Amino acid sequence: MRGYNVLLPQGWDTQGLPTELAVQNKLGISLDNTEKFRSACKEWTGQMIKQMRETMRHLGYMPDWSFEYRTMDREYHRKVQLALLNLHHMGRVYRSKHPIYWCPKCKTALADAELGYKKEETILAYIKFKIENESVEIATTRPELLHACVAVAFHPEDKRYQDLTGKEARVPIYNRKVPMITDTSVDPEYGTGLVMICTFGDEQDVKTVLKHKLATIEALDEEGKILNSRKYDGLGIEEARRAILADLVDVDALSKTVKTSHNVLAHMERPTCQTPIEFLPKPQWFIRIKDIREQIVKIAHQINWFPTDMKKRLIDWAEGLEWDWLFSRQRIFGTPVPFWYCQKCGYIIAPKKKDLPIDPATQKPLVGKCPSCGSKALVGSEDVCDCWVDSSITPLVIAGWPRTLQYYPLSLRQQGSEIIRTWAFYSILQCYLQTGQLPFKAILVNGMILGPDGRAMSSSIGNTIEPLEVIKKYGADALRQGLLLASVGSDFPFQWKDMAYSYSFMQKFWNACRFAQKHIANYRLPQKKPRLHIVDRGILSRLQKLIKVLTENMETFQFNLTLQELQNFVWHEFCDYYIEIAKSRLYTPKKEWIKKSAQYTLYTLIWTLTRLYTPLAPHITEEISYNLFNKSMLESKWPSVNQKLIDEDSERAWIILKEAMSNIWKLKSQLRLPLNAEISNAIIRCENENLKEILKKLKIDIKEAGKIKRVKILMDK
Ligand SMILES: [Zn+2]
Ligand SMILES: [Zn+2]
Repeated sequence: MRGYNVLLPQGWDTQGLPTELAVQNKLGISLDNTEKFRSACKEWTGQMIKQMRETMRHLGYMPDWSFEYRTMDREYHRKVQLALLNLHHMGRVYRSKHPIYWCPKCKTALADAELGYKKEETILAYIKFKIENESVEIATTRPELLHACVAVAFHPEDKRYQDLTGKEARVPIYNRKVPMITDTSVDPEYGTGLVMICTFGDEQDVKTVLKHKLATIEALDEEGKILNSRKYDGLGIEEARRAILADLVDVDALSKTVKTSHNVLAHMERPTCQTPIEFLPKPQWFIRIKDIREQIVKIAHQINWFPTDMKKRLIDWAEGLEWDWLFSRQRIFGTPVPFWYCQKCGYIIAPKKKDLPIDPATQKPLVGKCPSCGSKALVGSEDVCDCWVDSSITPLVIAGWPRTLQYYPLSLRQQGSEIIRTWAFYSILQCYLQTGQLPFKAILVNGMILGPDGRAMSSSIGNTIEPLEVIKKYGADALRQGLLLASVGSDFPFQWKDMAYSYSFMQKFWNACRFAQKHIANYRLPQKKPRLHIVDRGILSRLQKLIKVLTENMETFQFNLTLQELQNFVWHEFCDYYIEIAKSRLYTPKKEWIKKSAQYTLYTLIWTLTRLYTPLAPHITEEISYNLFNKSMLESKWPSVNQKLIDEDSERAWIILKEAMSNIWKLKSQLRLPLNAEISNAIIRCENENLKEILKKLKIDIKEAGKIKRVKILMDK
């Protein structure tokens, strides 16, 4: 509407765990047959997209479908793999055995962003360790990992244990000696102030082991079963815990156990999983990113954030980054990691650009032996990429990369607040590495529409609302407006009453247009602005201010304020007052020019308000425009402020008239008179001469709108 040629692309992030789980659980298709499983995932995704496209169409959302992309397509895979190949040539891709977050239930590696904390009831076991001839107690919530204990730690300033420095502790049952170390991360107040460091019991263990370069013992397998413990191998965590506590009692090494609750890291991104995660040292693919944290922060500052406070979330995340980007997943429905590696020396063998996309799990590398060590034991990666690798290149894909970078950097990224640490972060990172530039100039972050109960919509809770259900009852425009009441960035509970209110507002607007139709249907705007009545000058001046405010609100994506301002004006200035006051001039004008002035004003108001309302309610405004103005809103311009119509004095008169009419109508209603009841006399008292002068000019309008025979305007004594 403002004359820009806007590209609104539509893409679908299709690959990932949720789809796999849906296919596995809902369709009951097993993971064993990879090809069959992949095609089932594709088909299921295709159906979901079809449904979503249908809903979007109903809502009046019109992206450019010729730019549609799906991350599961061959061409998209080619681009993702090309980005990885480029990163490999920059020396940023590596494969390393590393303690990774592992969900024993989903049996996959996870990224930081998929985790969250969960409160869990557990036990704190006080276990006796021997140090020379003395005995000390360590407190742990993970006694089942005793076999993986590689050190005992205390705070360097903990006076109780100073003389233990440099000594070794003996692990009960195993009779293995481990070093006593000091680390400031140990809380002297927790348990006894002595803790065992396992590989890997929790996040802190991982950090401590890496920091002190301690030995690692693989304690668990992928299903969360005990490994390398001799006696307890193959037991689940709970079983192993019971068994080892019993054995500790037998050797008199357990002082006590107390109940406790603590926060554990769990697979929280999937509400149906929420299993506490384990740390497994496994070979994984990484992108080295820790060294460019500062650049990411710098770029985040160059981007215009709406709302502004969302920027901090990204910056805090980038600054707090501790690990590189672990991007491999042990799943099926994803972009294959496009590398082979030498089993002997770990050398990475990359494909040629022209051969992409590839699947190294089924294709052979170009070389027959390792270019580094000569070994013939070359293996193709069977892993797929984390879905954020796919979506991190979307700004590039939209810009036509790698052929061109036509629209780059993009003007705007629209996304949810819950994926700032992922989609926004990885897009900035990936695009910066590929182009050296920021991916988009501005980012608009929306909150989430919650269920009517204020909780996140979830089919298991049963608080989901289907858009089509609302559209059926109130129409798409009411749904759009009901949801636009949310301020940008905030989560917002869906409320049926908001839909009903929006619907009633649309009826009000429609009825105002119906009224206007009689008076402006055959009206042609004159070449020259006609002589205007003071009331018309007043409301037209108010209209200019509305245009200004709405334009500013739209430019800063404050759709809720746009809607509220528009509703207030239409409802409380235009319908309640202007139409009522202008009626007599339209039906029974005393002079021809005052009717023409009202017609001009009515036409200008409807035509302007309809255009201002179009982005919020495209369906009803199209209908109005077609019927009243015989043109489509698609070819209409957003209104601009007409400075010549700004008239402060008339605006003041308009506000005074509104107040006077409001009092007259209130009085009639208090006297239980109908609003159109005739009144013989009315006295309006005013505070000053100035006001009296203005009211005098409005006397006829007050008389006619109030059905009053004689109006006297007096000074207040
Ligand atoms: Zn899980
Ligand atoms: Zn090699």
